[in-house]
Amino acid sequence: MAVEEVPNPTIETPTDAIVRITNTNICGSDLHMYEGRTNVEEGKVLGHENMGIVEEVGPGVQQIKVGDRVSVPFNIGCGSCRNCLTGWSSFCTRVNPTEGFDGAVYGYANMGPYRGGQAEYLRIPFADFNLLELSAGDEHGLGVDRGVEAMGYQAHDPSGQEHPELVLDNLAKSVRTTGGIGVVGVYVPEDPGAVDEGAKEGRIGFDYGTFFTKGLSMGTGQAPAKRYNRQLRDLITPGRATPSFIVSHELPLTDAADGYRHFDKREDGWTKVLLRPGQAA
Ligand SMILES: [Zn+2]
Ligand SMILES: [Zn+2]
Repeated sequence: MAVEEVPNPTIETPTDAIVRITNTNICGSDLHMYEGRTNVEEGKVLGHENMGIVEEVGPGVQQIKVGDRVSVPFNIGCGSCRNCLTGWSSFCTRVNPTEGFDGAVYGYANMGPYRGGQAEYLRIPFADFNLLELSAGDEHGLGVDRGVEAMGYQAHDPSGQEHPELVLDNLAKSVRTTGGIGVVGVYVPEDPGAVDEGAKEGRIGFDYGTFFTKGLSMGTGQAPAKRYNRQLRDLITPGRATPSFIVSHELPLTDAADGYRHFDKREDGWTKVLLRPGQAA
């Protein structure tokens, strides 16, 4: 292993970028080459774990800009072959000219003719696809990944007027496109006390148009407790999760009626009441 002067990489195709390397690692798998356990060619610039600042982009690069701070995944993908399109750019069928090898890596034996990033500059093929911009502001203010409807059919506005669709409407607005809504609030097929005729028959008119247009999905129904309770126990017992923060009162059983009264009025501070049959009044 030696540090030597080599020519700087240049833009070779319009979709290339040149990154000025700010951080690069020596990986355990570099040692396979260092120890002579591969057929890597002499003089290869190693380094497949790279970060840096974009120094130059080819005329075909549209999203990545000069000055962007980027993470460089060690796989090189074309972004348009069958494997790249299904998320398997580690087996890109276009970037490695070596017979019998799908997938390419910067500075690695058998993984294509690409120099590595243990250097001052690195050429990135298919830069728009391969580079991850680290301050990607335009990928945030798009909405949350998941939203939870925890109110159910008695949701109401601040005046107390019931709108069973209120939370669903707000979630359809605030969850990002292709995101998901989990409904743990209860809805029922018959609600004789409902505010409108539809809701009496379980028909809830929420903003399905926005829900559909954004490609959202929805999970509903009773919690399948046995599916999760072992996993939850193993989080709660060692203190990694503390759902008890929701508990506001611990009452003896004899005070149960009083607990109901306060909780039903949604009085301030009455969030969850535990009843203790063995507790003295
Ligand atoms: Zn590595
Ligand atoms: Zn590909």
